Amino acid sequence: MDSFNPDDVAIRSGHFIGGEYVDEDERGDERRIEVARPSDGVIYASVPVAGAGMVDRAVENAWQAFRTSGWARMAPRERAKILRRFAGLVEADAPFLGRLESLGSTRPIAQAVGWDVPFTAEGIRFYAEFADKVGGDVAATDHDHLGMTIAEPYGVIGAIAPWNFPLVMASWKIAPALAAGNAVVLKPSEMTPFSVLRLAELAVQAGVPAGIFNVIQGDGRVTGDELVRHPKISKVTFTGSTRTGAAIMAACANSGTKPVTLELGGKSPQIVFADAPRLDDVARRIAGAITGNAGQVCVAGSRLLVERSLAEPLAERIGKVFAELKPGATWAAGTTLSPIISAPQAARIEGIVGRTLEAGATLRFGGVRADGGAAGGANGAFYTPTLLTDVTAHSEAVREEVFGPVLTLQTFDTEEEALALAQHPEYGLAAGVHTADLGRALRFVRGLEAGTVWVNRYGRTSDFMIPTGGYKRSGIGKDLGRQAYEANLRFKSVLIDLRP
Ligand code: NAD
Repeated sequence: MDSFNPDDVAIRSGHFIGGEYVDEDERGDERRIEVARPSDGVIYASVPVAGAGMVDRAVENAWQAFRTSGWARMAPRERAKILRRFAGLVEADAPFLGRLESLGSTRPIAQAVGWDVPFTAEGIRFYAEFADKVGGDVAATDHDHLGMTIAEPYGVIGAIAPWNFPLVMASWKIAPALAAGNAVVLKPSEMTPFSVLRLAELAVQAGVPAGIFNVIQGDGRVTGDELVRHPKISKVTFTGSTRTGAAIMAACANSGTKPVTLELGGKSPQIVFADAPRLDDVARRIAGAITGNAGQVCVAGSRLLVERSLAEPLAERIGKVFAELKPGATWAAGTTLSPIISAPQAARIEGIVGRTLEAGATLRFGGVRADGGAAGGANGAFYTPTLLTDVTAHSEAVREEVFGPVLTLQTFDTEEEALALAQHPEYGLAAGVHTADLGRALRFVRGLEAGTVWVNRYGRTSDFMIPTGGYKRSGIGKDLGRQAYEANLRFKSVLIDLRP
């Protein structure tokens, strides 16, 4: 994928309600938020902030569309056909959608076009295939009764997405909700608000009825909160930080109650035993799991736990992989190290690393701002991949989700010690175990308090059937898999007396 000029990409801002953009003069929004490009800090657009009135308009529109457009009632295979067409349009739009995604986010263009857009399209296709597969069950009752559960859509789903993979994270919410026959009102992050508008446009082009997929813009405090509390929102699905997740859960309890799916933060361990096969590959995997998207990944493998004898050779190899990465603007073809989303977030990373060093840690690699200027990223916030050793479970960089390319290394001598170090007091999103010993790998699969365990690999494949979601404070419920589809349905019980 070639480099491109971000100023050449047409940005369409606003809310998308009832199948169209809401015009400037009829908005009545209270204020606007400026949107900056992480790669160079340039403010390139702004978004309106939907207040209570605009949120109400979007949800009412969705509710009417849910009741009257026929989306929920149509033959599920027809719904699937429209969603497959939607997926095809997303795929075909990769040259534009990839640029739109890339320019204002942390996603380098090669990855946005090569992964984010096709993965979004395939996720929509995956859930389209579910549309006629889950209708309910017939219960084993006595002969004189017929008992059933009937699967029904909720109505209007309120979806709130983070900035780190704007299209993919939103699609994990939207695709199962739509396939199950719901309407959706989506609020993207105010830092990455534009690519999902294009997604909503393409949905309408594909034949999703107007009003079934709506996008509202704004911040969390006003727009997100109004959306979650709206009485006609039947269910909320959220991906973001643990703190926001807790606030949303409280808002759901106080305005409903409403069911809620929460995909939250993590502090995931990578456990490497001395018998792990192919050390060079392991090093590449470990480095990749903390530098992909510059560590701004919920499942970033941020805590390296390594058997003592392997610590030095592994650290050395990880340092070599770190050194290969090229920071630069997301629109430069050769960029392999993403910018940090914003200057305050880069300062936060610096603060955590600085305080961890002051408390006695050793800096093996990185620990400074990187220069993205050579590849168009002047004035962007870049941070060098960092490895900290001589840390403990109490070190700030070991405890806190950094959301940056910062890896800590702790050593262990026994399996028991490794397992104890791996358990985080709060988070339980994912973990990686690297060993040639199958029994040991499975003991860790059983023992780890984590929603996902990868063995001799780290990160997702394109197996959408495998759900993702956290244990402990990393979340409630799942995205992807059958579970996420079923979480967009409610089940009605029916019991019929058959006696004459
Ligand atoms: P965030 O919690 O700051 O914001 C996420 C979204 O919530 C944004 O759209 C924001 O506007 C909205 N929001 C904020 N306050 C709100 C409120 N009170 N009510 C309603 N909405 C509100 O998170 P972020 O910085 O955008 O994303 C990074 C976080 O997301 C990290 O903690 C990361 O681990 C997590 N994450 C988790 C997963 C997962 O699958 N578990 C995936 C990606 C990111």
